Amino acid sequence: MSAEATNPAVSPAPAPPTANRRKGRPRIDLRRLGRAALLGPATRDRLPDAIGHVAEAHRAHHPDADLEPLRRAYVLAESSHRGQMRKSGEPYITHPLAVTLILAELGAETTTLTASLLHDTVEDTDVTLDQVREEFGEEVRYLVDGVTKLEKVDYGAAAEPETFRKMLVATGNDVRVMSIKLADRLHNMRTLGVMRPEKQERIAKVTRDVLIPLAERLGVQALKTELEDLVFAILHPEEYVHTRELIVDNAAQDNDPLAEISEEVRGVLREAGIQAEVLIRPRHFVSLHRVSRKRGQLRGSDFGRLLVLVGEDADCYAVLGELHTCLTPVVSEFKDFIAVPKFNLYQSLHTAVARGDGQVAEVLIRTHQMHKVAEAGVVALGNPYAPPSEERSDEDAERTGGAGAAGEGERIDPTRPGWLSRLLDWQEAAPDADMFWSTLREDLAQDREITVFRPDGGTLGLPEGSSCVDAAYAQYGEDAHACIGARVNGRLATLSTVLKDGDTVQLLMGQDPASEPSREWLEHAHTPGARIAIQRWLATHPSPAADEPETRDDRHPDEAPALRPALDEPTATSGGANAVVVVGRPEANVRLAGCCTPVPPDEVTGFAVRGGVVTVHRVECAAVQRMKNLGRAEIGVGWGDTTEFRVTLVAESFQRPHLLADLTEAIALEGVAIVSATVEPPTQQRVRHTYTLQLPDAAHLQSLMRAMRNVPGVYDVGRAQHQATAAH
Ligand code: MN
Repeated sequence: MSAEATNPAVSPAPAPPTANRRKGRPRIDLRRLGRAALLGPATRDRLPDAIGHVAEAHRAHHPDADLEPLRRAYVLAESSHRGQMRKSGEPYITHPLAVTLILAELGAETTTLTASLLHDTVEDTDVTLDQVREEFGEEVRYLVDGVTKLEKVDYGAAAEPETFRKMLVATGNDVRVMSIKLADRLHNMRTLGVMRPEKQERIAKVTRDVLIPLAERLGVQALKTELEDLVFAILHPEEYVHTRELIVDNAAQDNDPLAEISEEVRGVLREAGIQAEVLIRPRHFVSLHRVSRKRGQLRGSDFGRLLVLVGEDADCYAVLGELHTCLTPVVSEFKDFIAVPKFNLYQSLHTAVARGDGQVAEVLIRTHQMHKVAEAGVVALGNPYAPPSEERSDEDAERTGGAGAAGEGERIDPTRPGWLSRLLDWQEAAPDADMFWSTLREDLAQDREITVFRPDGGTLGLPEGSSCVDAAYAQYGEDAHACIGARVNGRLATLSTVLKDGDTVQLLMGQDPASEPSREWLEHAHTPGARIAIQRWLATHPSPAADEPETRDDRHPDEAPALRPALDEPTATSGGANAVVVVGRPEANVRLAGCCTPVPPDEVTGFAVRGGVVTVHRVECAAVQRMKNLGRAEIGVGWGDTTEFRVTLVAESFQRPHLLADLTEAIALEGVAIVSATVEPPTQQRVRHTYTLQLPDAAHLQSLMRAMRNVPGVYDVGRAQHQATAAH
């Protein structure tokens, strides 16, 4: 375990790891900086000692940076703040210096650092915005102005909706304003101990409710975790002390399972010839507290996570393949945030490996570049106005490589990350400030985001608890008013269906231009975007009467108006519709219902729908009862002379030698015949096998899929076009 865990800082609040510490450099002594500041600016051509650390940290990320603007900004800030003291008794200049150092360590570019040194001058000294523009240019003026406005927001009237709207407009135009604001808040939180307890608590609450969620959304993990611990210590002092005791006790243990597992992992990767750094990252206090609440009893391996850093994207999958083959993976813990990045730029593979003694180590696998972005988020994105250098574009291409077209929009423009753009769209669309504020707070209160897939390979990031209604508005904006249904993991689903992480959602759009959203959608709309769009529509379309027609949401998708041709039924698997025969009408056009996916020997019934097509449902399907209640006549259907059951399965695996042999052997051992098999060429160490199989009976399917999943390297087996596996 590293020093952070064995010797947690005590006063005035915890000091979780910062970029600075992780690099093994000592924490900067701010008192020393203060003394240097008091000595006054150095001669014109020399860099003042006080910004030596800032310059050093900046050069570490940007070796060619021009330090002259920093020197001038420091000289102006120092002279104009001279004589002002912080509540702690330190010269005021120590504050902008500390804020700038935080940003420099995260890799911010020179303009941000210049503005950060000046960020309190306009508010607190005689310096004017015009002067800042004259001496440092329009960009720096804009940033200083934005931060000055934000400052008024949280210390004055945090809960005033209209002010908050203004704050977001200021931020939205340049996200670097928010970067400075976050670093400013971090330093103020670090030094909060000198304030009265009531004031500490008030500031901690605003930090918890607004600043931490913003740090999360902007991907600035390093700031977010430290802010979380500082807030935790103020708002939950007893639990904080308890958590610290847990950490101290654990550090006193003789054996450290994480150290042992990391040694094992190093050995595995060395043998496989993969160059990787394997580090132990202690959990921050809040993270450990969450784990202990969730699990009750903590294991030694819960106190940290393993971090594996590699050179290339492809190495990430190679590492994963080795870990899953040579150790015992906890497959349910596997998440791929490289192929499907999260909403906030974050990329990593997550998995966990278990040991015989019950110790489970969570493992994060990422490249060095991904690590930088994971820690610093938008701060690391650099100057949004600078033309991309060649190196930058390569990195961007690499980062977005596996993301697909949809992911890129979220990631290309650093001044307007997707989440921020959406927020600004809502604030324009929201009918009034109160509504905007309340929906925003709800949105920020969302702990987790889920990722759902679109059929075109794109993805949507949604807050946990989102329904198909939310997905529709997230994807189509106001055009979602015309949504008539959805298919979730290949099956027709009502729009109220709540989505899970990893679901595939296909939205079915009606062609009728006069389509209207249903009033009931509001009950299923979870995201501000959807709620605001629906409410706006309702406000301009007053309710006709209480006896509204049947709502779209309840309507069975079979009865939906004509769909766009491209969204028509996929070919049914399991022997196909041809295997079903309509009693007395052998030539009838038959379709297997997507809602209950009947397979032989299920008992089935049919209903005539548009165009003379007969849809076939399992008799216990809820749609059958509804159809009957509506007075629709059942049509007798039955399975043709299918004595056998044919199914197409897709196995997703990590590439390794003998995989095909092992999979086909597992299938054969289940007594199942392979009709055909295709193996797609591997991409990024992953490979997809598609098998069409002849089963003796449908009941065999579950055990067959289980057997295939047990083949090492296979991480998912599903029915083709029905990713949620198996009929029920
Ligand atoms: Mn400040």
